[in-house]
Amino acid sequence: MIRLEERVRGEVLVADGGMGTELQALGLVPGTCPELWCLSQPERVRAVYRAYREAGSQIVETNTFGGNRYKLAHYGLADRVAEINRAGVALAREVAGSDQYVMASMGPTGAFLEPYGEEREESFLEAFAEQARAFEAGGADAVIVETMTALEECCAAIRAVRASTRLTCLASFTFDPLADGGYASMMGVTPEVFAREAVAAGAHIVGSNCGLGPVHLTAVIRRLRGATDVPLLAMPNAGMPELRDGRTVFPEGPEEMASGLEGLVAAGAGIVGGCCGTTPAHIAAMARAVGRLNSVRG
Ligand SMILES: [Zn+2]
Repeated sequence: MIRLEERVRGEVLVADGGMGTELQALGLVPGTCPELWCLSQPERVRAVYRAYREAGSQIVETNTFGGNRYKLAHYGLADRVAEINRAGVALAREVAGSDQYVMASMGPTGAFLEPYGEEREESFLEAFAEQARAFEAGGADAVIVETMTALEECCAAIRAVRASTRLTCLASFTFDPLADGGYASMMGVTPEVFAREAVAAGAHIVGSNCGLGPVHLTAVIRRLRGATDVPLLAMPNAGMPELRDGRTVFPEGPEEMASGLEGLVAAGAGIVGGCCGTTPAHIAAMARAVGRLNSVRG
């Protein structure tokens, strides 16, 4: 298969939507380890991958977001990093066959580097490399370093992926809207600074996921495009979260979200998918919209 970063220069590709809520719909109890399901409930993890494939996704994203040793340690699973991540990717490879890409999810550690926290960079590099090697062993095509808000951690993850594997490396940051109309991560990183540093660290594709719905994310993609010419990825939430009866809900339905796609693609996004609040129905609507856009571009 042609490498993802090359394929995306010729057409817009569709990726998966949210994972956590789909697993919960299949019985995952909140507060338990979602990644352990790659070993204990493989049929159910495969069912989520398959639902997105059937919706029209061309890129399966794996159930490995919290699969680093820092996160797994909360569940007493720190010594099972290789086993869990390899299984999560291998299940995706089974569903993907040879016509879908397998993009392994790599999320933050939840810990902080010196001087903000107590962790040394070498520990982060080792933890991310351990996870990345398991992805490659399981048959992944790409790794997405995602939902990052700390630039140093994001760049450590990118460098670990590039140094320890031959996989395509995507890096996706999470931004919040600022009062002045701009955007920055929780840690004060702007889209331009993120794009420059992530590409310098070795990312083949950069982008943004979570935090924002399609409208805000379009503005972020435009700013990323102004800072780099590598391909861009956009995985918005289903709108901005609202609190209803004490529960967080994401207000945008499939068609509403799909109608925001043209703007995202015009701003420069070459891969589009969904984050929190998005379901296979959202991805199906997005895939139809992308199909129309690709045929117009010819
Ligand atoms: Zn999200």
